[in-house]
Amino acid sequence: MAKEITQFTGEWRFLSNFGPGRVIVSSTEYPTREHAYQAHKSLDRAVRLEVASLATPGEAKRFGRRIALRPNWDRDRKRIMLAVVMAAFTQNQDLAGQLVATEDAYLEEGNHWHDNYWGACRCAAHAGDGLNYLGRILMMARDLIRVDE
Ligand SMILES: [Zn+2]
Repeated sequence: MAKEITQFTGEWRFLSNFGPGRVIVSSTEYPTREHAYQAHKSLDRAVRLEVASLATPGEAKRFGRRIALRPNWDRDRKRIMLAVVMAAFTQNQDLAGQLVATEDAYLEEGNHWHDNYWGACRCAAHAGDGLNYLGRILMMARDLIRVDE
């Protein structure tokens, strides 16, 4: 087992919010974790349902850039991501098994799209400054789910 997983691609695609696994959050079913996260930028049920209806996580991400943000979004977005990730991995047994199988590997979404909040960008301007909140949430989820296995 790798001690570090620093790209959520290939065999590690399931760690990405763009990866497989439908997820139900607050009684609405979303095609991917990305859909669910983007939908929660709004408190408006109609907006959330519109996000849920989009075909791909890329469309959900683009749509999310146009959503009028709910109050305190910056404060609340980490706990929303935690809720989305926990929901996905507890509702999909195959995903849970894959996550637990990473054992104690350090998880970090290395990227080139300048995301140093959820992951860690590798570009010259940002390298080394990644906060890696998605990776940290995935490791928390792994710890919690492992207890139930
Ligand atoms: Zn960068």
